[in-house]
Amino acid sequence: MSCDPLTLAAPGVGALRPYQPGKPTAELERELGLRDTVKLASNENPLGPPPSALAALQRVAPELALYPDGNGHDLKRRLAEELSVPPDRITLGNGSNDVLVLLAETFLQPGLEAVYSQYGFAVFALATQATGAMARVAPARAADDAQPLGHDLDAMAGCFSPRTRLVFVANPNNPTGSWLQADELRAFIARVPAHAIVVVDEAYVEYVLGVEGFASALPWLEEFPNLVVTRTFSKAWGLAGMRVGYAVSGPAVADLLNRIRQPFNVNLAAQAMALAALDDRDYLQRGLRVNREGIHGLQRTLAQLGLWHGNAAGNFLLVDTGRDAAPVYQALLQRGVIVRPVANYGLPEHLRISIGTPEQMQRLDGALRDVFAGGH
Ligand SMILES: *Cc1c(COP(=O)(O)O)cnc(C)c1O
Repeated sequence: MSCDPLTLAAPGVGALRPYQPGKPTAELERELGLRDTVKLASNENPLGPPPSALAALQRVAPELALYPDGNGHDLKRRLAEELSVPPDRITLGNGSNDVLVLLAETFLQPGLEAVYSQYGFAVFALATQATGAMARVAPARAADDAQPLGHDLDAMAGCFSPRTRLVFVANPNNPTGSWLQADELRAFIARVPAHAIVVVDEAYVEYVLGVEGFASALPWLEEFPNLVVTRTFSKAWGLAGMRVGYAVSGPAVADLLNRIRQPFNVNLAAQAMALAALDDRDYLQRGLRVNREGIHGLQRTLAQLGLWHGNAAGNFLLVDTGRDAAPVYQALLQRGVIVRPVANYGLPEHLRISIGTPEQMQRLDGALRDVFAGGH
């Protein structure tokens, strides 16, 4: 007798839809017989990994028959120094995605609730649903707000209930590019009930540190024991393929995450490369410069084409194509440029475009002008 595995799955799992990653370059080249395609679909760093990290990879390659340090001692100690927090407040993850899932596994279950914003980062929904907990999704700000489609913190607070256990905030947020004023975010965190953990996802923090009105939530950890800040090496640090990120929290939350994580959740090469990357301040600065210039160029092009775009708080722009975005996405693919459809976010007329090298942006520019001026 056969039984449908769907009926056997844990609550929440059956209803999940797989995460839709950006289309890999090799796949597009295979499908269309194109070469030299440009991928601006996954907010990856166009500079490649930091040279210091590549050297570290070479150095540790002979050690790869060994298990990594399950406690990530060296990387945690270095991060602790960098962030001025004790090492026992840091939890390393296989990407920050891993720590977001660990938080959901630790604090959610059927009958409990997570709060996040409409257009909030997709992993918030996935991590929540997998546990069978209920999602309370707050309506986003309007498209003509100063932070278009961004988190409406009052609406989010309106979703708090006695069953709330996790509150997810992305600052800045992907895919909207919106961010939150330091004072309003701090006031919001103070409003989160003591029975809930508030997670501030700072995956793009390097791109906005120094922007007037923006602040990292890290210095507030002392004041709010239920606060968790997550960060990643996938974006400004150029190590998306290595999968390394981390959470900073109070020691009690870190202790729980440490119990539930896999014993070796961050691989040996990733630990070594992340550690080495932190020495490469020059790489970081170069990346930020290329990103800033790329954003300015793309903003100019979009203005000329009469296309609306969201705020530029990360290494991407959310663009309103003013029509069904699927054919636009296809037309760009035909021209060898991969961008990211965001219909899965409930934004069927938008595309998210990552910022690349000047050469890549030139290819994008040509393709956009072709598609939008060409009357497709
Ligand atoms: C890219 C991204 C992450 C990080 O993903 P990793 O798992 O660390 O690669 C987290 N949050 C947001 C909002 C992101 O865009």
